[in-house]
Amino acid sequence: VDHTASSYYPEIISILKGTFKLSHFRKNQLECITATLDGKDVFYLAPTGGGKSLCYQLPALCSTGKTQGTTFVISPLLSLIEDQVSTLRKKGINAFRLINTVDADQANDAMPRLRKGESLPLVYTTPEKLLGSNNVQDIVVQLYNQKQLARFVVDEAHVIGGWRVWRESYASLGILRKQWPDIPIMALTGSANMSAIEDIKESLALRNPVCLKQSFNRSNLYYKVKKKPSQKKELLKEIAGFIQSHHKDDTGIIYCLSRDDCEDVARRLREEFNLSARHFHAGMDRDSKRINQEDWSNGKCKIIVATIAFGMGIDKPDVRFVIHATMSKDMDGYYQETGRAGRDGEPSDCVLFYAYSDAMKIQNMLKNPHDQNNKPPPDEIQRQLERLSAVVAYASNEGDCRRVAILRHFDEEFDEAECHKSCDNCCKPGTVVNEDHTETAQQAVQLLRDMSNCSRERGIALTMFKDVWRGKKGATVSAYTGLPGYAAASKLDHRMIDRIVTQLLYSNIFTTRRTTSGNGFGNNYLEVCNFSLLSRLSD
Ligand code: ADP
Ligand code: ZN
Repeated sequence: VDHTASSYYPEIISILKGTFKLSHFRKNQLECITATLDGKDVFYLAPTGGGKSLCYQLPALCSTGKTQGTTFVISPLLSLIEDQVSTLRKKGINAFRLINTVDADQANDAMPRLRKGESLPLVYTTPEKLLGSNNVQDIVVQLYNQKQLARFVVDEAHVIGGWRVWRESYASLGILRKQWPDIPIMALTGSANMSAIEDIKESLALRNPVCLKQSFNRSNLYYKVKKKPSQKKELLKEIAGFIQSHHKDDTGIIYCLSRDDCEDVARRLREEFNLSARHFHAGMDRDSKRINQEDWSNGKCKIIVATIAFGMGIDKPDVRFVIHATMSKDMDGYYQETGRAGRDGEPSDCVLFYAYSDAMKIQNMLKNPHDQNNKPPPDEIQRQLERLSAVVAYASNEGDCRRVAILRHFDEEFDEAECHKSCDNCCKPGTVVNEDHTETAQQAVQLLRDMSNCSRERGIALTMFKDVWRGKKGATVSAYTGLPGYAAASKLDHRMIDRIVTQLLYSNIFTTRRTTSGNGFGNNYLEVCNFSLLSRLSD
């Protein structure tokens, strides 16, 4: 389909150039805009920085679409809304917000204007405000009756899925379709895997949505995992050394787990290493938060040391590094957080300092949340633990291309040759690709079967399997030393062992089973699941 031939195209292109001062579209943007103007539902998936906002801001300003009037943009965060509205204002676009803030600037407030019957093209709101207020409902009904309700846009649509008590109202957005069956809906997200996408489509009751997906590969980001020193002093030395040698005077973000950690790390980077660092976390008062964020945004301070509370809605293009002093809780988070680097397309570094003890710490936090009243149900905690172990698997894998691993999380097939050696694993010497490992893999499958047969345990822990295959000595493996496959991989590089086991898992030849008992990731039991697939294995 040639979207430049549609009747909407002349207006689209004139707004792109005239209002947004842009010369051409990125992949899928035009398709997305055309579809929504044509009254269709759209599901748009693009990584952070991919250019999602244009996909609804531009059609909101069009007068030729099938539906006319106000575009309601539903966004989860007030700060995000403020940010977007003021950015649009600066571009001369009349965006408004419909939110509850006492000290809000009246000029941007949609409510009084809508009451007066003014026509507003672009109105940002939260789900709570849109669904929870009778006044707002009255106005939406009025717009609808006057055929002045153009579309609903659900931004950050992944918030719908998953367990989030604080966003109950996001989950109830399904009501939009019920209440306004003929108003098109556009859902956008920067973070979703296949099951999350199905969740979103179903919750919003999207009707034959036009689904557009952009590659999640961020080719200008270099991914690296480093062993985290157990001493904080050493960690700080490494972080400061990395910044001073690679990113002197550059802007960056350092993510820490706790608020105290943020403050401590920022202070010590300032005092002991003379770096321009400030902290940011949800426990600070409004003003200090704003000051630190603004100073960082406009370059007065270079490094922000933050909890994950920092970042959503931050659109600083020239972030040159993101350092995780502690691992993320899940791959989605890791991708989002690292994704804040290099939005301008310039090369940027993402360094994760990994320690198994951090994983245990996070695991304990998930199991025993501070706020016991808001404790997730057990099966949700189980899911969170599984998501955490995906990060452990990512960080402890010393063989596979980081990019392949990250993108696999988004169900995207990625050829490691396309990484062009821009991750640590691809840069390691002796990394061989396109070698046939079928025989070695067959050995591994046989060994796991033999181990399962002679084990009185309920399964074989992943680490135990690797130990036996590698030929570790000692009491822990004594039950298996008599097997023919014991130590069969003793000559194999440990990175290759990781690669093969990972491949077997991804090919569904091995599978992991989890038991609820036990407390470590050791309850990650390996099983041979589908031997017949093995003939297809090569890397
Ligand atoms: P997202 O919401 O997907 O994270 P944004 O909408 O904030 O991304 O866009 C990221 C950046 O890309 C912004 O600075 C935006 O101006 C820019 N951008 C978006 N579309 C285009 C385009 N077609 N051409 C050039 N720049 C674009
Ligand atoms: Zn790579």
